[in-house]
Amino acid sequence: MSFPIVEILGVPVASLTMQEAVEQAERWMDERHCALIATANAEMIMNATHDAELLEILRAADLVVPDGAGTVWAAHHLGHAMPERVAGYDLAQALLKRAPEKNRRVFFFGSAPGVAKKAKQKAEALYPGIQVVGVRNGYFSEAEEPTIIREIREAQPDLLLAALGVPKQEKWLKKYKEELGVPVSIGVGGTLDVMAGTAKRAPVWMQKAKLEWLFRGILQPKRAGRLLALPKFVFRVHASRKH
Ligand code: UDP
Repeated sequence: MSFPIVEILGVPVASLTMQEAVEQAERWMDERHCALIATANAEMIMNATHDAELLEILRAADLVVPDGAGTVWAAHHLGHAMPERVAGYDLAQALLKRAPEKNRRVFFFGSAPGVAKKAKQKAEALYPGIQVVGVRNGYFSEAEEPTIIREIREAQPDLLLAALGVPKQEKWLKKYKEELGVPVSIGVGGTLDVMAGTAKRAPVWMQKAKLEWLFRGILQPKRAGRLLALPKFVFRVHASRKH
């Protein structure tokens, strides 16, 4: 199944619902396709404007979903339909929820030491019967990479959630895609932190008010500087609009 694509500053974002994204990922797991899914928010798209490698990876990805109110806004501003936000965290939870009945094997890769393990415990409590077949933190040297690849390969996951931050997770997944041979890999940023309770998502009312970016900016002062990417994104998208 292919979805309408909206190019936002060169990044091809699929216009689809959460349900469609979940079904597509499930199909790829059934077909053992080796798909790379990226979750694009405004910040990632801005990064791609000055990181040619990231842009190329996103252009070659099997699916780029609109993770963020800014991405949905941009599509609408450019005159295209974009039914809803497909947040990486929500997509991951939807797939984890279905994992027991579908008999999927899942691997959690990334975040600080201990976080992926806690996220595994959380997943086991939330989704009884889930098979989290491996966990590995996201802090490693290049010399450790062959071991990590072997660990993932030997665990034979159907779904790999990579939480190394943007653009490290996208670059890593792309570089080792063939070697890993995982049917579906998704770069999920702070998802394991949220599952483990080391980071919080914005309250639902803020998510609904499309203010999750503001919550993250305020709660994680380290990220405050990154908020500047948003007005830049708005200007760049507006300037890219064909009149
Ligand atoms: N991270 C990691 N390895 C690194 C750098 C970051 O595992 O070398 C993790 C970090 O601990 C955090 C996640 O990547 O759990 C990045 O989360 P963030 O919410 O900042 O995601 P982004 O917005 O960058 O996608």
